[in-house]
Amino acid sequence: MYLPVARTTWIMPNFELTIDDVSHPGAMLFLDNIRPANALRDAVVAVCSGLYTIRDVPGNVQNVRLVLQAMPGVAYTTGSHTHKEIHFSLNHIERSAARARSEITGVLTHEMVHCYQYNARGTCPGGLIEGIADWIRLRAGLAPPHWVEGRGAKWDAGYEATAYFLEWIERQRGQGTVRNINAALNDRTYSNAIFRELTGSTVDELWELYRLDLKSRQ
Ligand SMILES: [Zn+2]
Repeated sequence: MYLPVARTTWIMPNFELTIDDVSHPGAMLFLDNIRPANALRDAVVAVCSGLYTIRDVPGNVQNVRLVLQAMPGVAYTTGSHTHKEIHFSLNHIERSAARARSEITGVLTHEMVHCYQYNARGTCPGGLIEGIADWIRLRAGLAPPHWVEGRGAKWDAGYEATAYFLEWIERQRGQGTVRNINAALNDRTYSNAIFRELTGSTVDELWELYRLDLKSRQ
């Protein structure tokens, strides 16, 4: 008898959208390129399928408000345990006009990771937090064209440097390793020992092996 594989369905928070200035060129690009409900839902799916299983996904995020506003920088996430706010720069959207759709989707995915990821009660190094966020973006096929693998002088340099390192660990040590790293950041103080517990190697050993592998690929 044929049994169809059950589609994983993640619990969706309520989504809100605030646009501070609808006539800003960045707002017009957003509205021309993005269906907000779909984009936010897709970001939640990318985050939850990358970091959790249906059994251990945290249920605390009830509401995500996306705020589009003129401001320096790219984006940041704030809010409470249950109500998250993603603030996204209209100026950055305007600057990314040539590839607005993939850039907006990529940034939303990165910020949505911050709504759902664990942070070792606030003790996790920022480089690992940002690396996990960009790893999800990388995994979703949303790496921007300026990303290059091999940058970063240390494993927790952050952003795409750490994201490519995490992807290498995932390929070397097995699918689900990054999910397990995130799980190890739940409700305990951070220690580099989680890498040895989960992979059998220290993070410094992994970084050295990764650099050697990069060199051999050049
Ligand atoms: Zn971030």
